[in-house]
Amino acid sequence: MTAIFPGSFDPVTLGHIDIVKRGALLFDRIVIAVLHNPSKSPLFTIQERINLLQAEVSDITGVSIDTYMGLLAEFAKAQNARYILRGVRTEADCAYEIPMAQANRKLGKGLETIILAADPIFGYMSSGLIREIAAAGYASSNGEVKFDDSALDQWVSPAVKHMLRNKFSNKEL
Ligand code: ADP
Repeated sequence: MTAIFPGSFDPVTLGHIDIVKRGALLFDRIVIAVLHNPSKSPLFTIQERINLLQAEVSDITGVSIDTYMGLLAEFAKAQNARYILRGVRTEADCAYEIPMAQANRKLGKGLETIILAADPIFGYMSSGLIREIAAAGYASSNGEVKFDDSALDQWVSPAVKHMLRNKFSNKEL
């Protein structure tokens, strides 16, 4: 059984990796599908997001990474996948995921979405919040970083933290 785990992964967090690890116990193969959306302006390029993901999932059997544009149902069909894997943290996530799952089931002719409840450790964490913390924390008017970034370790890997620091430490807010 193959599942697609789609998302922006801008950047990948330990919450995403928890979903991949738990999904790997359910599916033979998981394709992490990084959304390439030209109308959005992500912090990390597609290649940076793939590289960061690759480093984190290299030791999980059956997991690969790809990119997609357009309809997820079409990508799933091309991958011969009958399942989509998603994680939900809050009621707001459910409100977003349920209609999406219903639409994908129609568009994908039976393409089912398997939704895992986030581990409470990561239940309030999103890539967006990580970006905001890093932007505010690393920004410094004289180029000197004063932010004690050890707090980020509970949410992202050292490699992601390093990339965030590079992105923001020379920029002023
Ligand atoms: P999207 O823009 O498609 O929501 P994300 O990269 O933000 O892309 O998320 C991809 C998937 O991972 C989504 O199903 C999302 O709900 C889930 N996810 C994101 N953060 C967490 C987290 N902290 N714990 C569990 N699942 C998460």
